[in-house]
Amino acid sequence: IGALRWHFLLQSLEDLQKNLCQLGSCLLVIQGEYEPVLRDHVQKWNITQVTLDAEMEPFYKEMEANIRRLGDELGFEVLSLVGHSLYDTKRILDLNGGAPPLTYKRFLHILSLLGDPEVPVRNLRAEDFQRCRAPDPGLAECYRVPLPVDLKIPLKNLSPWRGGETEGLQRLEQHLMDQGWVASFTKPRTIPNSLLPSTTGLSPYFSMGCLSVRTFFYRLSNIYAQAKHHSLPPVSLQGQLLWREFFYTVASATPNFTKMAGNPICLQISWYEDAERLHKWKTAQTGFPWIDAIMTQLRQEGWIHHLARHAVACFLTRGDLWISWEEGMKVFEELLLDADYSINAGNWMWLSASAFFHQYTRIFCPVRFGKRTDPEGQYIRKYLPILKNFPSKYIYEPWTASEEEQKQAGCIIGQDYPFPMVNHKEASDHNLQLMKQVREEQHR
Ligand code: FAD
Repeated sequence: IGALRWHFLLQSLEDLQKNLCQLGSCLLVIQGEYEPVLRDHVQKWNITQVTLDAEMEPFYKEMEANIRRLGDELGFEVLSLVGHSLYDTKRILDLNGGAPPLTYKRFLHILSLLGDPEVPVRNLRAEDFQRCRAPDPGLAECYRVPLPVDLKIPLKNLSPWRGGETEGLQRLEQHLMDQGWVASFTKPRTIPNSLLPSTTGLSPYFSMGCLSVRTFFYRLSNIYAQAKHHSLPPVSLQGQLLWREFFYTVASATPNFTKMAGNPICLQISWYEDAERLHKWKTAQTGFPWIDAIMTQLRQEGWIHHLARHAVACFLTRGDLWISWEEGMKVFEELLLDADYSINAGNWMWLSASAFFHQYTRIFCPVRFGKRTDPEGQYIRKYLPILKNFPSKYIYEPWTASEEEQKQAGCIIGQDYPFPMVNHKEASDHNLQLMKQVREEQHR
């Protein structure tokens, strides 16, 4: 994971530590591989119960199985609780005959049979800790939240996003105050290139466990109950949470979900292997300002809007470069604050039309897409300051400005900023043919 997410994690732990201290308790952070850590501390501290979040990611499933084995051996009880998702995804799958395939429509139908998710666990209060002994100060110091320097995480270029429950709750409350906005929220109408997020920006907090999705779900339900009209899934805010749930459900029952090979729901495509082109995309040097501005925001801040994710994912895969979605997914995994096993892979398969989404003839144009919502290119000027003096008519395609105009803008294309790495029209036409072929062959 990248430096930004490390910082976010450490800030989240600091915040948790601070909040627990206020309740008269304390957080002890133990570093190391879980097995030796448990073996050592279970005996040393006479631990009788270990609790953990139930997860669908294979790494955590294996961890849980190993911890249960250790529990049998060392004599502690293991409690695994479903808290990261709205439902226990096994219940959804059971009603779907035990496994995917599962469409979003069918998924919504199953949820209607299940009813509302379990109510969130209430917040902890001081009396919850009355029976606990506060650890002595020496112990607390020994197991304090590590600093970035302890973990050799670079300190420069901090993201404007700050980790922790306190920040997450503040962001949640701010959005929920505007009940009209919440009730009429329609995802496709939100703006990918606004200078501040046009959606809630809660994903890093859900992803890191700072904020409960069930709290959010119920707060939304209360607002909907008071509104005359409100938007509905798939485009409503609650609908967004259900997309999250949908990907968790499918991922939990699909082998090799983050890979193409051996993944039964994923179209098998011979993508190009091209390290140089991949590097250009990753480092914001494609020569398309809209794409490069998004990749710069991702690298500098760790969060980009959903439709901005659409734009760069389509460009890398079926749109322009014909490079595997797995490569893009890995870059997102490193750079996103909200990086998530199931949601990331699910959306990459979607955008590359490898699974879930089949209107593959709709390819985003790296020039026109961003222009619709930001014709002056303020977003590009912010993230690519080298282009900031171009007149608006050139900001999305500066290579079309004359030499004189480029000189006036203080940026010569091919020297200070790259030429576009592909001819979009030719590349996307060609890729569309490839995609048709793949689909026809696999259909046969
Ligand atoms: P809002 O629109 O405010 O939605 C509220 C919450 O609903 C989000 O916080 C998120 O938890 C959930 N949500 C929203 N959209 C989706 C979606 N399409 N799929 C699943 N859950 C959704 N989201 C991640 O959390 N982690 C990822 O690793 C991730 N990778 C992505 C990769 C690609 C290629 C694409 C196209 C999308 C990806 N998303 C990912 C989904 C989505 O872009 C983000 O969840 C959303 O933009 C986060 O911003 P927000 O909190 O303002 O969302």
